[in-house]
Amino acid sequence: MSKTIAINAGSSSLKWQLYQMPEETVLAKGIIERIGLKDSIVTVKFADQKAEQVLDIPDHVEAVKILLEDLLKHGIIADFSEITGVGHRVVAGGEIFKDSVVITDEVLKQIEDLSSLAPLHNPANAAGIKAFKDILPEVTSVAVFDTAFHATMPEVAYRYPLPNKFYHEHKVRKYGAHGTSHFYVSREAAKLLGKPLEETKVITAHIGNGISISAIDGGQSVDTSMGFTPLAGPMMGTRSGDIDPAIIPYLIENVDELKDAADVINVLNKQSGILGIAEISSDMREVEAGVEAGDEKCTLAFNMLVNRLQKFIGQYFAVLNGADALVFTAGIGENSVKVREAVVNGLTWFGMELDPEKNVFGYSGDISTVDSRVKVLVVPTDEELVIARDVERLK
Ligand code: ADP
Repeated sequence: MSKTIAINAGSSSLKWQLYQMPEETVLAKGIIERIGLKDSIVTVKFADQKAEQVLDIPDHVEAVKILLEDLLKHGIIADFSEITGVGHRVVAGGEIFKDSVVITDEVLKQIEDLSSLAPLHNPANAAGIKAFKDILPEVTSVAVFDTAFHATMPEVAYRYPLPNKFYHEHKVRKYGAHGTSHFYVSREAAKLLGKPLEETKVITAHIGNGISISAIDGGQSVDTSMGFTPLAGPMMGTRSGDIDPAIIPYLIENVDELKDAADVINVLNKQSGILGIAEISSDMREVEAGVEAGDEKCTLAFNMLVNRLQKFIGQYFAVLNGADALVFTAGIGENSVKVREAVVNGLTWFGMELDPEKNVFGYSGDISTVDSRVKVLVVPTDEELVIARDVERLK
């Protein structure tokens, strides 16, 4: 019995999914939220059941203990020895990690050392890794990096036009993110197109709370909208995406409550994007309801998001010199009929035409008309499955 856990550890949460491998059957999944705060929430879903409890969980080690005890308690596993692999999502792999790797002490140290590239994420990912190593020291653990899939980007795409030394001495370049998602949906897209992966050109639009658009040629990432950090690209739920960098010192000089660059970056990460404009929420469902009700701020946020998405998609048609398909994925991409409609209906010149009978909630696959020269696809992403598969491949 070979069971693999895919782990996505955030600073105060730990999401997990347990697979029977190689069958790829999901046996159970769950999330532990509010780690380190009072009243942590532990949710486990298995078979057709859902169990929830509220406990105080001070750190990731305790969270992993609770998760493993829950697997026994609910009879999902009979013994820890059934778990033969653990895969960890790691956000930043820098220029070191171009593929997933088995985690050794050295790899763990490198992941911690890369924290400057993802200060909110890498330390949490490392905490999750250490917690599993403490409790299940014999089990192979594998790190799967959000950046690795973008390691194929050519230098013209990943370099910033800054003095060379900032790249050579400080590694300032585009790394991208959401790599497992772009990897997964680009492969599924090739299947839907009925073409060998090597012959496909697709633009993948991962539109969730975080948003990134990628240009994928023959299965390889050749450009992506996230940059040195996940703050770049189109506007997102709470992140500004691309802005003129001169705004940063201007805000420090002119806004009393913003004392330094860290204050501004905090605003750009957490109070901007859809939330900054719509004000009521960063959640697209609430913003769409606001648009329906005639709320001007929500309408502006919706229209600005569509505008930014269209501009990136248009850019990538140029980067790829044409594409076979535009692929929508993640929370908004998979579910928002209105965003897909607004985005595609403004890009018909590029050869895309939506079939209104297919662009409906709950439909996935090809949502374009038979005559649409460029296909429009909805592909639910599955980052956990990519992680579990990488554990199988490397263990
Ligand atoms: P994360 O980046 O946190 O994984 P998700 O991929 O789950 O985020 O995406 C979350 C976003 O998807 C939220 O803005 C949410 O409102 C949006 N979303 C989910 N379902 C719908 C829907 N039916 N219509 C519009 N937006 C939706």
